[in-house]
Amino acid sequence: MSEQVVYEWGDARRYNSYSGYFRRLFGGRMQKVTVHAGFTCPNRDGTLGRGGCTFCNNEAFTPGYCSPSKSVERQIEEGIEFHRNRYRSADRFLAYFQSYSNTYAPLEQLSELYDRALSHPRVTGIVVGTRPDCVDERKLDYFERLSRRKFVALEYGIESCSDETLRAVNRGHDFACARRAVEMTAERGIHVGGHFILGFPGESEEQLLRQTETINSLPLNTVKFHQLQVFRGTAMARLYEEHPEAFSFWELPDYIAFFSQLLRRLSPKFVLERFAGEAPPRYHLNPGWGLIRNERLWTLLEEYLARHDFWQGELYRG
Ligand code: SF4
Repeated sequence: MSEQVVYEWGDARRYNSYSGYFRRLFGGRMQKVTVHAGFTCPNRDGTLGRGGCTFCNNEAFTPGYCSPSKSVERQIEEGIEFHRNRYRSADRFLAYFQSYSNTYAPLEQLSELYDRALSHPRVTGIVVGTRPDCVDERKLDYFERLSRRKFVALEYGIESCSDETLRAVNRGHDFACARRAVEMTAERGIHVGGHFILGFPGESEEQLLRQTETINSLPLNTVKFHQLQVFRGTAMARLYEEHPEAFSFWELPDYIAFFSQLLRRLSPKFVLERFAGEAPPRYHLNPGWGLIRNERLWTLLEEYLARHDFWQGELYRG
């Protein structure tokens, strides 16, 4: 009988998985409960710009139980109920502040909000999604203090390491800003995640594989990737309608093959939280992959990696 390989992250999965990360940290499963706290974003309210990033449609990823018209406590309760029905073993939860920029408010307002979320008896920690230009020393010092007693992760939308791409999608900050925010967060011992979108117009597979080296140089704990989807009603949708030739989209098997190559180059120290995501077909304009569940995407990736005997970081030279 062949012996099972255990990779350097401590289990037999061919990538450093999010569930493994929480097993190592807490000894068991952790479920995220999404909360919409009603923030906006400086790239939408006119402070930096109006209309936002050309690809932005927060609705496409917000679960139905989230609404800023409900209190944080109620959204947490409803989210826990939802997950307990789906995953009977779920009993520890992280409040996930996902929509818009969740540090875009005065510190006093942020601390009131996050203290309330953390006082819920079933909430073990918070994950706060934001823009890299929406944090400063004072806010990070607050999150550092909080992280001494509860799990705290900041998750930055980085999207691309190319300033040219960031300008083209009207991001309103450059890559140096993202690096600074990630470093300032990591220096304080706060868990830090980065979100990237793969396949913006003009970005080739070779360029994206090279970009992985830049990502590897960031002091991140977790990474999330998404293939580009063009959502209805966005500036990118208008561009797509006018210039479809500027876009190219992966078929699902091609994306799995491409992402496997990226994964082989990705630092093994990064926890891979997401590698693709498909919003419901009614939201997007580009040819999508149909209704496919996240679990199925992971299975396809795992099968591909096993078939080719690939694993995360095998080509990484630190
Ligand atoms: S920073 Fe986030 S919320 Fe703001 S416009 Fe861009 S994608 Fe949308």
